[in-house]
Amino acid sequence: MTDSLVEVRNLQKYFYEQDSLVDRLLRTDPVAVKAVDGLEFEIEQGETLGLVGESGCGKSTTGETVLRLQEATEGEVYFDGSNIYDMNRTELKEFRRRAAIVFQDPFSSLDPRMTIGETVKQPLDVHDWPQDDNHDTSKDEQKTERVKDLLNRVGLSGDQFDRYPHEFSGGQRQRIGIARALALDPDFVVLDEPTSALDVSVQAQILNLLDDLQSEFGLTYLLISHDLSVIRHICDRVAVMYLGEIVEVASSQDIFSDPQHPYTKALLESVPRVTITERVRDIKTLSGDVPSPRNPPSGCRFRTRCPSVIPPANSNIDQEAYRELLSIRNRIRSRDIDLSDTQEFLEMDETEDLADRVVETMVTSELTLSEPHRSRVREAIAAALEDDWEEAESLLTEYDSICEHVSPALQEGRDHCAACHLVEQPPAVVDAVADSPVTPQDGYE
Ligand code: SF4
Repeated sequence: MTDSLVEVRNLQKYFYEQDSLVDRLLRTDPVAVKAVDGLEFEIEQGETLGLVGESGCGKSTTGETVLRLQEATEGEVYFDGSNIYDMNRTELKEFRRRAAIVFQDPFSSLDPRMTIGETVKQPLDVHDWPQDDNHDTSKDEQKTERVKDLLNRVGLSGDQFDRYPHEFSGGQRQRIGIARALALDPDFVVLDEPTSALDVSVQAQILNLLDDLQSEFGLTYLLISHDLSVIRHICDRVAVMYLGEIVEVASSQDIFSDPQHPYTKALLESVPRVTITERVRDIKTLSGDVPSPRNPPSGCRFRTRCPSVIPPANSNIDQEAYRELLSIRNRIRSRDIDLSDTQEFLEMDETEDLADRVVETMVTSELTLSEPHRSRVREAIAAALEDDWEEAESLLTEYDSICEHVSPALQEGRDHCAACHLVEQPPAVVDAVADSPVTPQDGYE
């Protein structure tokens, strides 16, 4: 065990569909939606770890599971050396005093029927703060005093104690949420998209406030955001998430100056820059949609969108053409090519070869699919036209990628690690690659 304040080990959170009483009576198998799948990370005392990724990749579920606001399906979360999933009621209550959360939406996270004073005071009431009662003043007076101090500290005024949330702007409401999170003097705060609902100028104020509060109270943060500029502004280290898994971890500086995972590179590439050349920059966006967490891709989960997916050894095939070939192969595998009435649809005369025309239509990259790959795809399409889908599939199995057979993993114990076959991999992954039916390209490590 290290000196980390928070250690997360193999954290999984699955949600189950088709798991109602009726489904069980009908013996329907439940379907797991793998929102978080095997996360490992730690956060040092006083550090800010950023968790970044596209919407729906499992960031918020991770934050809530780390605080045990949702029960984990599997795994451990150690807080100050103790697993929060083994804690009894008393220990869990003490953990709740030391760990807090600031929610994303400052409009819905405050009760409109409570004054902001009552809202910030609520955690103090729940935890019967202060524990020692050696003061001359009553507990209620001490709580009111504490709330007014907190409101002042987050940039509001103690005089606003009796006002209601609707009387405040979005930025002010987020300050109220921060005051509530700090009420019990926590050590650890999860910041779940704390600025995403705010105007840009207000975002900067809230980020500066969080920075100041961290220095003043020695706080440790887990900052969840899809916004790389927010991450860059405030984080010491960054963990990049994709489809429920962490794909790269490094210091903030290394992530932005030397990204290693193709997904991280794509995220950084998609950020607009403030330069006069920006208007002519061709921003390379990721193709395709994020796959469903109900049925994530085999091997590397990013492979269906990866611009660097690894072709088989000695295939001597251009990267862009290879991705198109994989797309055709996947459509054949899922029978997702409607070949009925194709001849009429393509307005062909009878002398033309139908399989050739289908290949021409499907391969859209500017780079031509070279021989012998083009002939192989043509044969597969011809087999599909004959309704022999199995033959069509088998003709293209030689184009399997190592990325779809073996899951890459993060190298343990390194400051900068990425789960990608293009960067050095742990021995277990290298062994699995050696046993794989696909031979990876030369240069693979
Ligand atoms: S393992 Fe393959 S598919 Fe995954 S990120 Fe690396 S190159 Fe892309």
